[in-house]
Formats: sequence, structure tokens, C-alpha cells
Amino acid sequence: LQLLLCLQFWLLVLDQKRKERVIKMVFRDLNLEQNLIENLESLGYKTLTPIQENSLKYSLEKKDIIARAKTGSGKTLAFCLPIINNLDKKKYRVQSLILAPTRELATQIATTLREVLRSTQNIKVLTLCGGVPYRPQVVSLEHEAHIIVGTAGRVLKHINEGNLKLENINTFVLDEADKMLDMGFFDDISNVCSLLPKQRQTLLFSATFSNEIKNLALEFLNNPVNIEVEDEEQNIIKQVFYEVNSRDAKDNLIEKLIKKYQANSTIIFCNQRVTCEELADSLYERDIDALTLHSDLDQKQRDETLTIFSNKSYPVLIASDVASRGIDINDIDLVINYDLALNYKIHTHRIGRTARAGKGGVAITFVLPNEAKSALEIKEHFPDIVFEDEKEIVFDNSFEIDSIFRSIFINGGKKQKLRKGDILGCLTVALELNVNDIGKIDVFDFCSYVALKKAKLKFVLENLQKTKIKGKYYNIYEK
Ligand code: ADP
Ligand code: MG
Repeated sequence: LQLLLCLQFWLLVLDQKRKERVIKMVFRDLNLEQNLIENLESLGYKTLTPIQENSLKYSLEKKDIIARAKTGSGKTLAFCLPIINNLDKKKYRVQSLILAPTRELATQIATTLREVLRSTQNIKVLTLCGGVPYRPQVVSLEHEAHIIVGTAGRVLKHINEGNLKLENINTFVLDEADKMLDMGFFDDISNVCSLLPKQRQTLLFSATFSNEIKNLALEFLNNPVNIEVEDEEQNIIKQVFYEVNSRDAKDNLIEKLIKKYQANSTIIFCNQRVTCEELADSLYERDIDALTLHSDLDQKQRDETLTIFSNKSYPVLIASDVASRGIDINDIDLVINYDLALNYKIHTHRIGRTARAGKGGVAITFVLPNEAKSALEIKEHFPDIVFEDEKEIVFDNSFEIDSIFRSIFINGGKKQKLRKGDILGCLTVALELNVNDIGKIDVFDFCSYVALKKAKLKFVLENLQKTKIKGKYYNIYEK
């Protein structure tokens, strides 16, 4: 009998192990090229996220899909892989088109695509977005590309003016389709759709399924597979609502909350541009350094803001919704909704900034007395939300609200043939900095940013200007 029990036990264990293996699908299980799989693994992608697992089995079979999953669930990779799967690498023609709601999101998608494709030679990914000069895009298109990522309006303009040829497109992706519709792009999107070749694969991703989305899918998708992933990670984000009486009360609470949660990176959302700026002033009075991100800034300023916030040079970013849509900034500890979001969809997008890819996070929301009804409407979608009294906030006053790094700006980048390694080399060899004193290095076309431990900032500012990087002197500024 003992033997039998023992045997039964081991059978159970084996069965459990088998189940675990079935649940966690890895990229090797997919029917993809070997060098692509290896590259995905080297980028740190081990197991598939639920949306990837559920959608790729259809999308890699060239089926149309309409998929719903919350922000941070890994949708980008879920559509990048079918695009690569459909790509004829030898054919130097545009074969895939991705539409996204904002330039920032399009840029981020392009970055992911290039990373995933870095093991494949000579694949050109081009972004076509509004808010940046038009002519250079036309020139780039004349040199052909394989994959286009862009915003609807600008892409349509290039199509209408004959710069962008559609006849070789086999894959069409609508990312954050709900956001695009909210922003009024329905007509542009359906115009683009109707001009594309009928023989194609279409993938539609959205955080919510509204009727408008379903109509779009009915009209432009061919027998799509419906994929919905339950928001099982929802409760990883701890959500607390506070009733407050005034703006002043909100400003006072921010400091306490950052200290309570010992947050090194906080995003604060406001509904309006002016509120962003006024709050930044108010925090400045309280010795808290904050960056602002809103649609009044030009693209260069927005890129810079995102870069120096992502590299941990500032502890707080104050953002409006439009400017921050779809941006993937990792390691956000705390999201504060300074203004209540206008609806639960916007609220969902905001709190998705924290707890990305399964990490825990906290989202705080301030509610004014006259907003109680709207707050309850949001709460209906998130049963885990708790209301707390601000008097109960316990915090550690010794926690310093500051960042570990500060950034320097170098007026040279890719066009000057500067690479990360050149800058790192110069800092560690010529200036004898320790690698631990150097944070993230971002190299753009015409400039670069380096995060440095604050104690080293003055030294680097004084000396890097007088030191050649890859044989040339550059201007160095503090950011
Ligand atoms: P979404 O578009 O759904 O908001 P993203 O595609 O931007 O989400 O992914 C969010 C984060 O999760 C990114 O930082 C991405 O690198 C990471 N990620 C995506 N897929 C995986 C995976 N399979 N394993 C680990 N991390 C992943
Ligand atoms: Mg996304």
C-alpha cells in the first residue's frame, strides 16, 4: 500500500510539472525562425504573456484577429511577430503598415521592431508621424522600406500624395484602436483600410471593445478571431482614492504620498496643460523637482522629457493624457491622478503606467466633492479600489524625494557616428569614472543624454567639454 501511495504521489507531481509546462509557453514553442527565437531570448523574453499566447496561435497562421488586453500586457510583440512572419526580406517594398494613436507610441513600436529584427540584416522600419517635418519622410519613402509605423493622418497624406505605395502590403495593424477613435481618427483609418489590398492579414488591438471598434472590425477584418484576455493582473495595482476639498489640499498630499510609498519614480496626471504647469510650480516651491509632459511642448522637448525621466534623472513627471498615451516607461512606483480621469477608459490607461509586465504598483486618485459620482462610476470597473481618509496616511518624513541620477546633454549623436560605447569609454577611460556612476545612455540622431550619479555631475560638466569623444569636442550641458 505504501508503495502504491508513493507511486500515486509521484504521478501527481509529474502531472503538476506537465501542467506547468503547458501553461508557460516559451518562444521556442512557436513556429519561428531560429535566429529570431534566439534574439527574442537574448532580449529577455522568456515566457509568452497571456495575450501573446492566445493571439499568436492564430495570427501566425495568418488569421485576422481582434484582441482586447489591458495596457502593459505585451501587445506590441503580439503583432510584431506575425509581421515578421509575413515578411519577404528580399523584397524591398513596404509590406506592413501599423497605425498607432501618437508619435511616441509609434516610435516605441518601431524601436521594439528594430530590436526584434536586429538579428536580421537590412530590414528598414520607418515611422511616419505628424508633428515632424514632412519632406524628409518623402525622401525616406523614395528609398523604400519594409515596415511603416505611423499615425493615421500623416500616413493617409503620404498615400494620397503617392509617396507610399500600398500594393505589397500583406499585414495591417491597428494598435490602441480605441484611442485612435477617441482622438477622432475614424475617417482617416477607414480611408486607409479601404485603400489597402483586399488580400491581407489585419490585426486589431484595443484595451476596450466599444461598438465603434466592433463596427470597424466588421467592416475591415476578414472573419476575425476574437481574443479577450481577462485582466487577471488587475489587483497587482493597489488603488486608493482620497476625497480632497481643494487644489491646495492635493498639492500637500502629493509629498506625503510619495514619502509613504517611498516612490523613486512618480507620474502625476492632470486633465489640462495649465494644471500641469501650475502643479510643477507648486512642487518646485516644495523642493520637489518635476518634469512636465503635455501637448504644448514641441516634439524635441517631449523626447527630452521622456528620456531624462526614464533614465531616472527626475523623481516626478507631470503629464496630460494625450502626451502620455501608450508610452512604456518602466519601473513607475506610483501613479497619482491629480485630476479624476474623464472616464474609466482613460483611468485604465493612466494606471497601466505602473505595474507594467506584472510588477506591482500603486495608483492614487484624488476626488473632489463634486466628482463623487464619476469616481463611483470608475470604481464599478475596479472593485478593488479602496477609499481612504487622508488623515490616515503614515509616512516616513526622512525619505528624500529626489533622483539618484542627473542627465547631461551632448550635442552629438548617431549622425556624428557617436555610439553608446564611445561615450561610455570616454567617461570610464579618459575621465576615470566608475561604471556604477553612469546610468542609462541614450543616443539620438543629433544629440545624446547620459545619466550620471549626482555627485559626479559637476566633475563631468567641467571636464568632458575639454575631452575628445571619438576624436571630437562636444558641448555638454546639464539637463
Ligand atoms: P501593451 O502594448 O500591451 O501596453 P507592451 O507591448 O508595451 O504592452 O509591453 C509592456 C512591457 O512588457 C514592455 O516593457 C515589454 O518589453 C514587456 N514584455 C512584453 N512581452 C513580454 C514577455 N513575453 N516577457 C517579458 N516581458 C515582456
Ligand atoms: Mg501598446
